Amino acid sequence: MRDRFGREINYLRISVTRRCNFHCAYCGAAKSDARELTPEQFAAFAAAFARAGITKIRLTGGEPLIRDDIAEIAEAVRAAALPETLAITTNGFLLKEKAPALKQAGVDAVNISLDTLDPECFRRMTGRDALAAVLEGLETALAQGFKRVKVNAVLLRGVNDGDAERLAALARDYPLDVRFIELMPTGDGDDYQKRLIPSGELLARFPHLSPVPGEDGAAEYYAVEGYRGRIGLISPVSKKFCNDCSRIRLLADGQLKPCLGQKETYDLLPYLNEPDRLYEAICQCIRNKPAGHHFEKAQGLAPMNQIGG
Ligand code: SAM
Ligand code: SF4
Repeated sequence: MRDRFGREINYLRISVTRRCNFHCAYCGAAKSDARELTPEQFAAFAAAFARAGITKIRLTGGEPLIRDDIAEIAEAVRAAALPETLAITTNGFLLKEKAPALKQAGVDAVNISLDTLDPECFRRMTGRDALAAVLEGLETALAQGFKRVKVNAVLLRGVNDGDAERLAALARDYPLDVRFIELMPTGDGDDYQKRLIPSGELLARFPHLSPVPGEDGAAEYYAVEGYRGRIGLISPVSKKFCNDCSRIRLLADGQLKPCLGQKETYDLLPYLNEPDRLYEAICQCIRNKPAGHHFEKAQGLAPMNQIGG
């Protein structure tokens, strides 16, 4: 359905947990014992969202694979909502173990967050000595034959920005897209302005990129001769794409968050057993989705691991 600005809202991101097994400084705290919905509850929500026009669903977190029942969640959500695409975003640490069950459960696409290929830098950025495990997860995901595998990287000036070329080369060596996401002002952002690398600056470092069409509004894609996948730039700060936004977010405890840059959430849990009221509540939240974020003056946004990136 359309919101009051005429935007078609058809993409739901479900954060299945706030918990995480990494501790990326730009994302936020890694511990939380907040309420988490069951697979059946996520499925009931997903069905109502599908009725309101959602056709694409992404499971995210926190770290979604930390949940023992993640394949069950995926299967239940797929069966209830019958989305055209069911995707998942993960840090990849548990992917080697869980990729086969996710494929079996009907997950179509996997995004793996990977900010550096240097083991020591990886340990500093995530708090875990886990680069090798993530790379094994990536290879397992590719071997499973998901429709699409992508790598997402956030570059921080003075931390991992020297790794951009090496990360981009993953799209040469593997059949996957590598996308660079601008740092957003969430989490611990004390030195935010110092760390942010605008996409334009990054683009200038890659002289051989040719623009190619993308399939979603958020990323601008580029081809490189000899590469198997594409390079993508996602620029929520320097090229705000709120006018084309198609997303809403369901948090792990049943709160609906219509916009990443908005503090307000709406508790949908009281309507869980009343499908018509749930549908109405979702439609009302979609209609009233705010025009966009104001990252340029943002302060006090919730950490990403609560809202699912
Ligand atoms: N744990 C999973 C992962 O890391 O992929 C899923 C959740 S994580 C919050 C989703 C995405 O949000 C990751 O790609 C992460 O890099 C990104 N993210 C977290 N904090 C961010 C920030 N401040 N700016 C830009 N991206 C951020
Ligand atoms: Fe965890 Fe993902 Fe946030 Fe890193 S970006 S702390 S892996 S939720």
